[in-house]
Amino acid sequence: MRRLTVLGATGSIGVSTLDVVARHPERFQVVALAGHRQVERLAEQCLRFEPRYAVMADDAAAQALRERLRGQVATEVLSGAGALEQIAALDEVDTVMAAIVGAAGLRPTLAAARAGKRILLANKEALVMSGGLFMQEVRAHGATLLPIDSEHNAVFQCMPTAGQGGVRRILLTASGGPFRRTPLAELETVTPDQACAHPNWDMGRKISVDSATMMNKGLEVIEAHWLFDTPAERIDVVIHPQSIVHSMVEYVDGSVLAQMGNPDMRTPIAHALAWPERLDSGVSPLDLATSPALAFEPPDLDRFPCLQLAFDALRAGGATPAVLNAANEVAVAAFLEHRLGFRAIHRVIAGTLHALPHRSAASLDEVFEADAAARDIARRIIGALA
Ligand code: NAD
Ligand code: MG
Repeated sequence: MRRLTVLGATGSIGVSTLDVVARHPERFQVVALAGHRQVERLAEQCLRFEPRYAVMADDAAAQALRERLRGQVATEVLSGAGALEQIAALDEVDTVMAAIVGAAGLRPTLAAARAGKRILLANKEALVMSGGLFMQEVRAHGATLLPIDSEHNAVFQCMPTAGQGGVRRILLTASGGPFRRTPLAELETVTPDQACAHPNWDMGRKISVDSATMMNKGLEVIEAHWLFDTPAERIDVVIHPQSIVHSMVEYVDGSVLAQMGNPDMRTPIAHALAWPERLDSGVSPLDLATSPALAFEPPDLDRFPCLQLAFDALRAGGATPAVLNAANEVAVAAFLEHRLGFRAIHRVIAGTLHALPHRSAASLDEVFEADAAARDIARRIIGALA
């Protein structure tokens, strides 16, 4: 029996996680759920899974959830960022799904690492911000890190068994998002809804915009660097519009191992929940004979300049990836609120990186200082562009 905390339970990954869990009530017990401000959705999840704890963003949201649950379930409702760290480190929990979006996920995910949990990592931003420190904590406390991001889960599945070696390159696949063929001039005026209409995946709005700019792939290159201890030079990105091959590992003998499947996050989630075993995820079987032909092409960096920014940030090291991530979060939020054009997302991030070169990230405090400084500069650039 695995005992779970789900951080970000009300989001796209959280809901898919609980869908897999509900298929195997004999194998999983939900101990804690966190839902930020989505009272109604978290209430339904609490009634269904009867967790011991639920965590909301603040007192008002927590009070609303308590009232909604009164007399029906004994869940204790907590609130605030400290409570997220608390439910990530509970003694009675062995597995933590880290599915909060953005920098807000870093502290609770670190708390899970320090408590030596099995961490199912969806929150890639945590690793982008402070990969070195994060991996150090994972090792120091004997935590187990299993990637949920479909590409990294695929790479994990294709990696050699211990001591075997021989890896030459990691090949991350990318769909190219909704604007792969949109004329460049039209990209200036695309709307948030167009950007979030991903051809293959149904995801939260922030990662959907990241997929449209391909910053998502950039963040994933940095994520792969830390997860698989691989330098930027040995991580390549290839566009694969069908999202059937979720990524590949190339070996020195010329072998290329790929993991395939229908694009449904329940596959990597079930893989990590059950690892090293396998579990039915509810995902329909892949039928290659009737699926569209699989195509591959190199990414166009004029169309997707954010991808280059991420490679450059990884090579620059220190707090530069944290600066990149923070500027991206601010720019994407402004785009989603119709305060910034789609193409300007890249301009804001590039401007922020230019203003904040070579910051160190030797401690978590330095990482959060860089994050705050970058948000400040990104907001100022957005103000100047408006
Ligand atoms: P989402 O927007 O659907 O859900 C985000 C969750 O985080 C929600 O439960 C929300 O309540 C919570 N949340 C938001 N802000 C918070 C804050 N400040 N503090 C605490 N909780 C907060 O996002 P998603 O698509 O589920 O993505 C979650 C993470 O998983 C992201 O890091 C994303 O990059 C990663 N990811 C998602 C997918 C996918 O298919 N959706 C695939 C790969 C990786
Ligand atoms: Mg991914």
